[in-house]
Amino acid sequence: YCIAFEGIDGTGKSTHSNRLAQSLREKGYEVVVDHEPTNGPWGRKLRESAATGRLSSEQELEYFLNDRKQHVEELIQPSMAAGKIVILDRYYFSTMAYQGARGFDPVEIRKMNEEFAPVPDLVVIMDLTVDDALARIGARGDIANEFEKRDNLEKCREIFLGLVPEKFVRLVSSNAPEAEVSARIDTLVDQLLAD
Ligand code: C5P
Repeated sequence: YCIAFEGIDGTGKSTHSNRLAQSLREKGYEVVVDHEPTNGPWGRKLRESAATGRLSSEQELEYFLNDRKQHVEELIQPSMAAGKIVILDRYYFSTMAYQGARGFDPVEIRKMNEEFAPVPDLVVIMDLTVDDALARIGARGDIANEFEKRDNLEKCREIFLGLVPEKFVRLVSSNAPEAEVSARIDTLVDQLLAD
């Protein structure tokens, strides 16, 4: 199985992907949890560029695709083939949203990804309003350019919400105590594994 956590910054993807991994391990499943951009060479370049000034949108998209190709080959495919549950903190739906917000057509981005990346069995879209998300990021102290960030996250959120009607996508509001959000996710995943 492959389960991806998606959603704008500050919605708790990392927290809940790790919590889910822990809860599945306690139930006896073999689990691999990882995030994108990865810690590999392309992912590192993407993080460096975020810190030092941004890449052109074309270069950025290319780096995300390269990073994901490597991730799929080296970790995602082999782990799925070995019967493990793969949990991803961001996957290609983030590329649809963030690079879509930078002007690319999300449908085209999706096609490019689905040529090599397995479609997940479940995509959990973690959701908050942009105001609530910014408040949480602000509390983490890494908010640089608030207006640009707000506009960008609104566009990203809209692209994420556009995915919700799809069969394998579920929306989970992060606007609840962490344990409740976690219980909701566990229920969705139990349903998936019972099928
Ligand atoms: O998930 P994480 O917080 O590590 O993401 C790092 C940053 O990379 C996010 O703030 C997000 O704005 C950005 N990002 C991006 N395009 C993607 C995925 C993430 O610009 N496809």
